[in-house]
Amino acid sequence: MKKNKAEKSNSTKIFIGLIIGGIIGYLFNIWGTNPIRDGLLKYVISPVGIAFLRALFMVVVPLVFASLVVGVAKLGNAQNVGRLGGRLISFYLITTLMAVLIGQLFISTIRPGDGVSAEVRDSSVAAMQEQVASLQAKSTAVNESLWPGLVEKVIPKNIVSEMAETNMLAIIFVSILFGIALLSIEKKKSEIAIQFFDAISDSCITIVGWIMKLAPICVAALIITAVANFGLEVMKNVALYIFVVIAGYLTHFFISYSLIMKLFVKIPIKEFYKRILPIVATAFSTSSSSATMPTTIRTLEKSFGVPEKISSFSVPLGATVNMDGTALFEVVAALFIAQIFGVDISLMGQFTLVALVLLTSIGVAGVPGGSIPILISAMASLGIPPAGIALILGVDRLLDMGRTVVNVTGDAAGALYLAKVENVNLNKFIKETT
Ligand code: ASP
Repeated sequence: MKKNKAEKSNSTKIFIGLIIGGIIGYLFNIWGTNPIRDGLLKYVISPVGIAFLRALFMVVVPLVFASLVVGVAKLGNAQNVGRLGGRLISFYLITTLMAVLIGQLFISTIRPGDGVSAEVRDSSVAAMQEQVASLQAKSTAVNESLWPGLVEKVIPKNIVSEMAETNMLAIIFVSILFGIALLSIEKKKSEIAIQFFDAISDSCITIVGWIMKLAPICVAALIITAVANFGLEVMKNVALYIFVVIAGYLTHFFISYSLIMKLFVKIPIKEFYKRILPIVATAFSTSSSSATMPTTIRTLEKSFGVPEKISSFSVPLGATVNMDGTALFEVVAALFIAQIFGVDISLMGQFTLVALVLLTSIGVAGVPGGSIPILISAMASLGIPPAGIALILGVDRLLDMGRTVVNVTGDAAGALYLAKVENVNLNKFIKETT
């Protein structure tokens, strides 16, 4: 009980860190560039944020591998793994589709891309030519790696080198396989391995707890650095585009997930939003689902009572393939640029876009700006000029923070849903810890 109080007060502190970071970042922004400000940012504030981000990344691979092996081994048999996987993927598909439809509804009714003159458009695109060219090259590489490249991404030739590259799909595949193998060998032998990995996973969660104690300050540092560098001059249409994207995020975040909590997970909506605060703050400040993964696993276990076998199974999978915020953003961004260039996307084209976004979100890396190369290739396949990405790149950092929050909230919601359908009494845990 005492432990949970500490958990709650740290949540509040992280939230306060977020707000204070935003205010200081804004002051730095209007202060304008000068040696003192730049030095403070570069040598004092930014290293604190970088340390936090690296520390979180540091635990991702051992935590995911160890906890997933144990999680799968604790599921008892391969059928259970298949059942859980099936339920989770259906949940992800439905929630991502909801997000995409919200984005599509908003962008098609508000139409922020209408009425931009060709001159303004072309000069903005020309100004960012170099950046766009390098992104386009990346996008071609991503495109080629989608199929049959996916096979190589999932089945590694060498698991150690995939771990060194944090290639989540390969790590997930091998851990699940390893867990199932442990279920198939002599119990006397497998017990030793399970205990070993269990200890590693618990130690990683303990390290995450220590890192999260520093989160209030580190989150503030990350936000100060991000906000201090925001460019605030954007043209009217782009401002309206930002509004559409954020309105979409908020709708999905507050309405879709409330509905899911009420109808399917059946836990108090207020408790859901209160308890996911550390996940939200970490995602918002790091713009990375992968970096947020350890916090998500820990919060689900400590604040919602989700068993390890469920959180360790669903969170790595979710952080890698389930990206509601990214999917919503991609649809809005692609259609916004289409509107600016006067490219009419037919109903069939819109369906194709939805399907593309759903499928390609598997290939989006959970890192800052991970979706941009995928977005470029989706635009190209629909006849939307990829160079148009230049119009939105300048404001993407802010939107990336928002979509990462939506992405990780979807992962947490998926784990809670799975816990509920697997008959875990979440309400009992919540009541006991309120
Ligand atoms: N930053 C996002 C994430 O990590 C990915 C993206 O949409 O760029 O979830």
